[in-house]
Amino acid sequence: MAFRPTPLTSHPIDAMALVRPRFSRLRVRCRALLLLLCAAAATPVSYAAEVRDLRLWRAPDHTRLVFDLSAGVEYKLFTLDAPERVVIDIADSSLATRLGDIEFEDSPITGLRSATRDGGLLRVVIDLNTKTQPKSFTLEPNAEQGHRLVVDLYDSSDERVATALSVQDGSERDKPERATNRVASNAATPSGERRDIVVAISAGHGGEDPGGIGYDGKLQEKHITLRIARALYDYLDRMPGYAPVMVRDGDYYVKLSRRPEIARERRADLFVAVHTDWYKTSRARGLTIYALSGDRADRENARRVAQKENTADLLGGVGSDLSLGSWDDDVALTLVSLQMAWSMEQSVIAGSRVLDAVGGITRLRKTKVQQASLEVLKSPDIPSILIETGYLTNPEEAKRLNTSSFQKQLAEGIGRGVMAYFYDAPPEGSLVAWQKSNGVIPTSYTVRRGDSLSMIAQRFGTTMAAIKKHNSLKSDGVQIGQVIKLPGGVEPAAREHKIQSGETLSGIAARYRVSLADLRRLNELRADRILVGQVLRIPAS
Ligand SMILES: [Zn+2]
Repeated sequence: MAFRPTPLTSHPIDAMALVRPRFSRLRVRCRALLLLLCAAAATPVSYAAEVRDLRLWRAPDHTRLVFDLSAGVEYKLFTLDAPERVVIDIADSSLATRLGDIEFEDSPITGLRSATRDGGLLRVVIDLNTKTQPKSFTLEPNAEQGHRLVVDLYDSSDERVATALSVQDGSERDKPERATNRVASNAATPSGERRDIVVAISAGHGGEDPGGIGYDGKLQEKHITLRIARALYDYLDRMPGYAPVMVRDGDYYVKLSRRPEIARERRADLFVAVHTDWYKTSRARGLTIYALSGDRADRENARRVAQKENTADLLGGVGSDLSLGSWDDDVALTLVSLQMAWSMEQSVIAGSRVLDAVGGITRLRKTKVQQASLEVLKSPDIPSILIETGYLTNPEEAKRLNTSSFQKQLAEGIGRGVMAYFYDAPPEGSLVAWQKSNGVIPTSYTVRRGDSLSMIAQRFGTTMAAIKKHNSLKSDGVQIGQVIKLPGGVEPAAREHKIQSGETLSGIAARYRVSLADLRRLNELRADRILVGQVLRIPAS
């Protein structure tokens, strides 16, 4: 669209867009800070910095504490044992928030205390019920936030298993359908069985990194991406032959370098990053899907991403990533995973299927998968797409994106697209591959606890009437364990093929595993004469 000049990856654009208009705000903030410091200098007792807030996030393997500061500080961190404590001495500072208000349940923290010593040394003591491995660093102000001191308390490796289990227990209690720490079923399946297709779902941002902020200054991308990701998980989890994995399943930050690792550890067949878009005006709208293309190398894009590295903190990026020279956003990792030719090609195909599937649900900003390239990154092997689900800066889209009904609808559209992609070319050894080679439309469904016929109909994009007719059901009632045949099944999306020199119609039919007759019929061809450059529609195989 005209107001968004280059069809590049969105996050580099996010980065630019976030950076540009906010420099002025940053200046205003600096001026305010200066005034504040001047005012402070006039009062009798003053410290160089104030701890204005303390925030805490629990991730599966660590606890992150962020001290929001009025200015940069010097600090020292050390540990004490019996009982385990982490002590942080912040020079020339005072505490302007109440530590007692912090909730640290689910973390190893049992208490937070503070004291001010002579000369303005602020000591914060973190009481722990177990040994942790602390890491700490400070962050300079960015467009969203001021000076920060970040303390990450990593669970020591012995404890990690226990914590992972307790996290799992917790999530089992709240959300019986989701278990992030479950071993992907393909890894656990004994040989000879038909494995599940694993889809890694990466909710953008999280914890300290809120992502884009909405038109109202309140909505945060990290919450919306997580809800859509969870809805996608729930959808795929109910599908026979699919095992989704949540890359992030809570309000915490997962390092960008860690996200593809999680996907790889779970042997993911596809990586889906979920984001929302940002633009400086409220007009921009629509969903966009990104995948990387190697042959459309685009210098401009590489430049923007390189620039982004330098400005990463302006996006609310997190120190440990910065120190690794790593990227701020999922887009970088999506780009990483797309380096190999195969995964690049597959990513574009998968993205197209998802676009086809969500087209009726939301407005598309671009009707084709957007391709971007990046030379500098390494080359993993998992096809990956990044979905910008809509603009939080557009009030209408933001409100819709914030409703659970739309989140669910969109997630199901994405899920249908993902399934269509895998049905076209199922991974070897998967249940879906078996279904396809045996002519099974992959949508018979075994009724689970809590299901109703209307839910099943909705989930599979059909109607109750159609299911009843298809299964000769007299009533609307279903029983747990009952197998429902689904009418229509997953429609493989219409494909297109542009004819290259030397190709024949029969060759094309063979390549797509469709009959010559179907190919002729769909394209209304009377003879088998085709022209180079002519675009053929490929029927569903
Ligand atoms: Zn994002």
